[in-house]
Amino acid sequence: MDDGGPPPPRGGGPFRVSGQAGQGPGDRINPIARQTLIPRVTSFVVSETIAPDFHQRDTMTIQLDFITLQDLVRGEVLDPRDPRFADEAEAFNAAVTHRPDVVVAAADAADVVATVRWASLNSVKVAVQATGHGAERGIPGGVLVSTKHLRSVSVDPAARTATVGAGARWREVIDAAAEHGLAPLNGSSSDVGVVGYTLGGGLPVLGRTYGFAADSVLSLDIVTLDGDARTVSRTQEPELFDLLCGGGPGLAVVTGMTFRLYPVALVYGGALVFEGRHAEDVLRAFAAWAPTLSDASNSAIRFLRAPDSPEVPRELAGRLTVHVNFAHVGRGGERALAPMRAAAPVLLDLVDDLPYAEVDRVYSDPDQPMPFLAGGAGVVDLDEAAIRAVLAVAGPDAECILPLVDFRLLGGAMTSDDARTASAHGLAYALHVVGVLAPPIAEAVPGAIADILAAMAPFGNGRCPRNFLGDRSDLTPAWSATVAARLAAARAELDPEGLLVR
Ligand SMILES: Cc1cc2nc3c(=O)[nH]c(=O)nc-3n(C[C@H](O)[C@H](O)[C@H](O)COP(=O)(O)OP(=O)(O)OC[C@H]3O[C@@H](n4cnc5c(N)ncnc54)[C@H](O)[C@@H]3O)c2cc1C
Repeated sequence: MDDGGPPPPRGGGPFRVSGQAGQGPGDRINPIARQTLIPRVTSFVVSETIAPDFHQRDTMTIQLDFITLQDLVRGEVLDPRDPRFADEAEAFNAAVTHRPDVVVAAADAADVVATVRWASLNSVKVAVQATGHGAERGIPGGVLVSTKHLRSVSVDPAARTATVGAGARWREVIDAAAEHGLAPLNGSSSDVGVVGYTLGGGLPVLGRTYGFAADSVLSLDIVTLDGDARTVSRTQEPELFDLLCGGGPGLAVVTGMTFRLYPVALVYGGALVFEGRHAEDVLRAFAAWAPTLSDASNSAIRFLRAPDSPEVPRELAGRLTVHVNFAHVGRGGERALAPMRAAAPVLLDLVDDLPYAEVDRVYSDPDQPMPFLAGGAGVVDLDEAAIRAVLAVAGPDAECILPLVDFRLLGGAMTSDDARTASAHGLAYALHVVGVLAPPIAEAVPGAIADILAAMAPFGNGRCPRNFLGDRSDLTPAWSATVAARLAAARAELDPEGLLVR
């Protein structure tokens, strides 16, 4: 369709062409989107069938002109009758089933731009998924842009930067950077997507040493819901760039990203594992030790209740274990960790010199899809009362059904400046709890998460880094009121119809 002429009339059934350009919501589209699309799209969605409230739309009949959309993109446009639809829409969080009207398996960045413009022109809700690690609830309709095939990564060793496609996962960046003795600011699992993680601030394994991942972004290629595709950076639309870096998904769709890498080939890292019966000694020692650490040291304490299954290491299966996760950059890691090695008898000592490419061994997060629900909060200090509260909800005598209760140490280079979009908000720890939504405990998981968060609430300040919030229905804790107001204003300006699902 390079001649700009109209596509031939096609279809019938659910794909019938059912509107005419210039008669629908496209009238409200900005001139850039109109200029790009009108010569190519002469017929599109029956927009009047789209209810104003996206979440009520499952009761409505929607007929999208997928054939026209297919004309605009190189990748496949899949509807629910296609056997590949489910795979393309699948989320890492297996508790979530997305039910969009159509999935676009983007083959390149231009497909993402074209789909966003198409959705914008037709007033259709548009969602983006790279991996589904951040999926909290199913998308009930509209277009889902799947970026999972856009996995390009290029490293510039001289500039110490990486440039990635929208669907890159940290594993690819870690491997490409390691060839040059460099490391990115990935989180605890290299299976997570680079873009979604970074838009949410990105709390890295090496966050105390180098800061939030969002603060290492140099530029973003974006398309906004007015159809405008461009690059933003500290010098190009700095206000929008700043909001995107930590303001979470929902402002724009990112098609590419360039960010800093750091000269780290090796860390002193891994995990010390203690039996659950030593939880109190270990937690007390951790609470006294963590505040003394330099910015070179990164750590967390985790209460892990692993299932009694043959895939789980014998020492961990079917019991509570307490893990001190540790990653130290440069010399002195062994000395820094010594107080924790002496805190109680160590069941498994898995801390040693670790090539950065093996950084997943610090947290050993699951890498297979599973049905889960997460929740999070901040903790200002693990003082005596907080320690007692943690032991009451997660210690050896607690009837805790959650496999993971995790306190990630903040501070160091992770700024607590509330005027910043990605901020540690004056917190010492980010608490993250995860429940598995599988029988027989699935129904009890939301209550169990709520109970732990309520028990720890007196030790927070109402704030939490965004990626650790878990259930994203209430994002209030993620930003200061000032930043939240700037985000809301930007959203209202860029996406007045609220088409971009976050
Ligand atoms: C096992 C595990 C470990 C984790 N560890 C950490 C950690 O150490 N530190 C940390 O900060 N977080 C961590 N997280 C949280 C994780 O960073 C978030 O869930 C993040 O949103 C996942 O991004 P994703 O792209 O992989 O997931 P997705 O579910 O694909 O995307 C997440 C969100 O980002 C949006 N999005 C994705 N791509 C784009 C795009 N191109 N343009 C616009 N929006 C986009 C999606 O629409 C969605 O709203 C972890 C999560 C899991 C499950």
